Amino acid sequence: MNELMTTAAENLRKNGFEVYTVATADEAKAMALSLIGGGWSVGVGGSMTIRQLGLVEALEEKGHNVWWHWTSPEEKPIVWNNARNADVYLASANALTRAGQLVNIDGTGNRVASMIHGPAAVLTVVGSQKIVEGGITAAIGRIKQAACPPNASRLGLNTPCAKEGKCDEANCGDDCMCRAITVTNRPLRGQRYIVILAEEAIGY
Ligand code: SF4
Repeated sequence: MNELMTTAAENLRKNGFEVYTVATADEAKAMALSLIGGGWSVGVGGSMTIRQLGLVEALEEKGHNVWWHWTSPEEKPIVWNNARNADVYLASANALTRAGQLVNIDGTGNRVASMIHGPAAVLTVVGSQKIVEGGITAAIGRIKQAACPPNASRLGLNTPCAKEGKCDEANCGDDCMCRAITVTNRPLRGQRYIVILAEEAIGY
């Protein structure tokens, strides 16, 4: 584990997050499955990390009731509502600062809203490539450079980052996916907030 990941993990703990560090994506998946209690309902945000880990399939095999709009796109409003009222909400973060702040950008808002208010517990899996040396500005920069272009491209959006591979916010039109930015400095009051930090890069 490098110095940046060690420091970010320490700072997350100081900020009140429940943190587990692992080496590989497989270990991150096993850790997540061990922390999600039997019978818990699970809401899931749009996340390539969660998809890459195959967590939804693994949870369904264990008998969990899972609400994920990626597998039920035709029922999005119902799924979003049920996900927001689940026992635990599963997602990643778009970036993590050295100081232990989780930064997320959202176009629809269901993901960031559910990570802030609703489920009693939030569980995020974060690959170490998402940790930035700097603060919130660096985190937003990382998201717009490394996360938005492949996401916008995957979704077929008509944005500068999808077409040219880099952000041009001034000329980003109706398809803009950077509509809300959240910075979580500490778990919200009464919330259990778990962060699994993996050395291996997961998602983007
Ligand atoms: S503001 Fe627009 S161009 Fe920039 S990263 Fe976000 S979606 Fe892409």
